Amino acid sequence: MSKRFKGKICVYCATPVASETGDHVLAREFVRAVFRSQIPQVPACRQCNKNKADLEHYLTAVLLFGGRHADAATNLETEGPRRFAKNQKLGRQLAKGRARLWTREPSGLVVNALTLPIDGEKIEKLVEFMARGLMSPLESRPWARLLCGRTDSYVERRGPIPKIRENECQGPRQG
Ligand SMILES: [Zn+2]
Repeated sequence: MSKRFKGKICVYCATPVASETGDHVLAREFVRAVFRSQIPQVPACRQCNKNKADLEHYLTAVLLFGGRHADAATNLETEGPRRFAKNQKLGRQLAKGRARLWTREPSGLVVNALTLPIDGEKIEKLVEFMARGLMSPLESRPWARLLCGRTDSYVERRGPIPKIRENECQGPRQG
C-alpha cells in the first residue's frame, strides 16, 4: 500500500487520518488502458472507497447499453457477460424492467429503442464522489491548480472539505 495516501484526510467524507488507499477519482474502467496512469488519485478511507467502487461497477455495467458509437455493440457483446456475471442481481433487475419506446434520432429517423430502468440516484452519488475528489485539497491534487479560482465557491458550499487558500493557486485563474 502506498504511504503517499495513508493516514490522510479522506477527500470524500473529510474524516481526518482515515485514508488507507489512493482512489482513482475516475474509475480505471472508464478510461482506455493507455491513459490510466494519468487518472488523478486521492486519499480515501476504506468505506468511501468501497461505496464509490460499488457505484462504479453499477455504472460500468449499465453504460454498456447506452453507447452510440461504432464499437458499442461489440463492447456490449464482449464486456456484458463478464460484468453481469459479477452482478447477476442487476442483470435480473434490468431484464425485468426493460421496455420498448419509439424515439426520434437526431437524424430525424424514428426507431424502436430498448429502455432500461436506470437508477439516477446512483449516478448522481458517483458524480458527487468524483466532484469531491477533484475539489480536494491542493496537496493531493496538483492537477487542480488549473482550476483555482473556480473551486473556492464550491468548496465553501460543501462545508467539510478544507478551503483552498488563495496563495496556493499558481495556475492561470479562470472565471
Ligand atoms: Zn471516507
